[in-house]
Amino acid sequence: MKRLVVLGAGESGVGAALLGKKEGYDVFVSDMGIIAPNFKQELELAGIVYEEKNHSIDEILKAEIVVKSPGIPKKAAILKEIASKNIPVISEIEWASRFTKAKIIALTGSNGKTTTTSLIFHILENEGLNVALGGNIGISFARLVAQNNHDYYVLEISSFQLDDIQTFKPFIAIILNITIDHLDQYENKFDLYARSKFKITQNQDNEDFLVYNLDNEPIVDLLQEIGTKANAIAYSTEKTLENGAFISGEKLKVKLEKEPEFQMPLSSLSLLGKHNQSNSLAAATVANILKLKDKKLIEALSDFKAVEHRLEKVCMVAGVQYINDSKATNVNAVYYALECMDKEVIWIAGGTDKGNDYTEIEELVKKKVKALICLGVDNQKLLSTFSGMVEEITEAKSMKEAVEKAYKMAKKDQIVLLSPACASFDLFKNYMDRGVQFKQEVKKL
Ligand code: ADP
Repeated sequence: MKRLVVLGAGESGVGAALLGKKEGYDVFVSDMGIIAPNFKQELELAGIVYEEKNHSIDEILKAEIVVKSPGIPKKAAILKEIASKNIPVISEIEWASRFTKAKIIALTGSNGKTTTTSLIFHILENEGLNVALGGNIGISFARLVAQNNHDYYVLEISSFQLDDIQTFKPFIAIILNITIDHLDQYENKFDLYARSKFKITQNQDNEDFLVYNLDNEPIVDLLQEIGTKANAIAYSTEKTLENGAFISGEKLKVKLEKEPEFQMPLSSLSLLGKHNQSNSLAAATVANILKLKDKKLIEALSDFKAVEHRLEKVCMVAGVQYINDSKATNVNAVYYALECMDKEVIWIAGGTDKGNDYTEIEELVKKKVKALICLGVDNQKLLSTFSGMVEEITEAKSMKEAVEKAYKMAKKDQIVLLSPACASFDLFKNYMDRGVQFKQEVKKL
């Protein structure tokens, strides 16, 4: 029996193990940390042998193939041992892709991945296709393949998952944008991080498609340098294109070679803001490549609901709109949030700084932000950057305090926006916990 070793027992590791078992492998799962009880139970039920808080070298080196979870550091000692025995190490998406012939639509980028993959999934589902959504959001690709065979998989893919692919070949790959994020894990080199995203197209051929954002300079530069064998289709909110998707007047248009032009009014898009026009262009391009019905596409782009914690409207209190954008964990996401605010903003920001450079948003802050509430353990950087730029700056050490302060400061017709630009781990479990606490506190007002 062939032996599969899975390193790491989170959602992707457990998915990979279940798929291996189903495909007749002798599976061993090893995790240096503690495995969550629900995952342990699943492994036990499937009769899969596992260990936690340890890597048993002898057991691991018996592997014919190793699937490595994205969370395992590239420099982990165990990976050196495996490499010295020439045992192939692949990622979970590579593994899963070997067991399905379905069409894969894979999307990567720095911001907007979850929104746009969910939107594409919604469009395909609305068309009545047999489609599943997963990858970096929700269910792992391997678990999806193990559960059921679908005709289409819409996958959100992080750069870490692309680091260990070999043959992974999406029918449609989408690169939304490449901006500064996670540099700490790429030796602080933007180029390394950007290149890792381009791996999404490395195995594509001339029957496949690469949909890319022409407005994002790093993407355009890298495409020129690295190239692709796929049919490259651009989208842009700024330029009109011969072959691609773009905005013209008050319309969103998709014009692909030899295909009739698709168009719909921008005012019918359900998602707000210029960044979401860009995301909608990407999604509409995918639908046109798949030759979906125009009427159904318009319907889906018009009735899609914003994903939780992404510019999510919470409610109105005393004429003030409260918006939860807790998922804005970097400066670029805040840029787009502020850009689409059409009223004065009381801005709640802060948390764990990831090397933020706020220059990009200074003009927007001056123009739109009335008051800033810094919500974090260490607010020094926010305080020194924005003092003098906004009328009022204050600090809060809990969500309750932040929301209460915002309530006192906000005047009718203003907006209270939680869009932190930072990770959440100093005061919250994660960005979801931060967003949920925000909503709970707002509802108590
Ligand atoms: P990801 O999955 O890549 O983190 P999300 O869809 O969860 O992306 O959105 C994260 C944040 O980025 C949200 O604040 C959202 O409003 C913002 N955002 C969405 N699309 C874009 C885009 N195209 N460019 C920049 N920011 C975006």
